Amino acid sequence: MRNARWRCLLAVVHYCTVGPMCLVAMLLVASLSAQNEPLRVIAFGAHPDDCDLGAGGVAAKYAALGHKVKFVSLTNGDAGHQTQGGEELAKRRRSEAHEAGRRIGIEYEVLDNHDGQLMPTLEVREQVIRKIRQWRADVVIAPRPNDYHPDHRYTGVLVQDASYMVIVPNLVKDVPALPRNPVFLYYSDHFKRPQPFRADIVVSIDDVFEKKIDMLDAHVSQFYEWLPWTVGKLDQVPKDVVERKKWLTEQPNAARKSLPEWHDALEKRYGAQAFGIQHVEAFEITEYGRQPSEEEIRKLLPFFPDQVARP
Ligand SMILES: [Zn+2]
Repeated sequence: MRNARWRCLLAVVHYCTVGPMCLVAMLLVASLSAQNEPLRVIAFGAHPDDCDLGAGGVAAKYAALGHKVKFVSLTNGDAGHQTQGGEELAKRRRSEAHEAGRRIGIEYEVLDNHDGQLMPTLEVREQVIRKIRQWRADVVIAPRPNDYHPDHRYTGVLVQDASYMVIVPNLVKDVPALPRNPVFLYYSDHFKRPQPFRADIVVSIDDVFEKKIDMLDAHVSQFYEWLPWTVGKLDQVPKDVVERKKWLTEQPNAARKSLPEWHDALEKRYGAQAFGIQHVEAFEITEYGRQPSEEEIRKLLPFFPDQVARP
């Protein structure tokens, strides 16, 4: 067996024009490319802008490091406006989502399920399984299944229901099953029942905050029209494009300041630096996918300083 392996290596050396150095170089390249394999992250939202709010900053950080991120909206957003609707709105929101993705260097796909009517059906579960498998995801991000909006809630259920099935080869046979289960994370939220969000991982997005705002700014129909209208504040949105973007940075949902109950998780990985951090995105590790060790968390979210000085 050992002789056979040597014969094989010698054969490679023999056919290589520059001799043994070439083999060394080949092995080095192979090992470096395995180490440098980009991480593959997929995030699901119910509407085109949901992923952006929960993970737009982290996505910008991954993209800046050369990793691959895809956002998927399970509905086309065709109900989210006070004066527009149907196909016209779906088209507008799809183009806003693509522009948002372009601005931070990630892929953005909007599926054609109707807004406000998403149900946790087998058909949509299979759509989710396909997307996770096709992306060959290392990390999957989704909302928790406790939420005021049924589309958000069912997006949580659908991803939860897909989380084991992505490794089962006998299901959704048109796309190969993943060889191992990804790590599944939940976005942060403020819902308290049946249990509150638990911040397992809190990432500083101060370095990409402007990029995140730039991404949100692409969803004109939402952040400057629909969402202010739903809370009776449409008249407070500045008309000027520069002024309205500045106004957006001050909206709590866009700004995502760290909460006191998240501080321990922040300090665990940033040490004394945690006290200076302004804007964050927080995630809970779900019980359903692979359970990562601390070492793996740092590999999958390569954003933390190696050594932290504890205060
Ligand atoms: Zn939404």
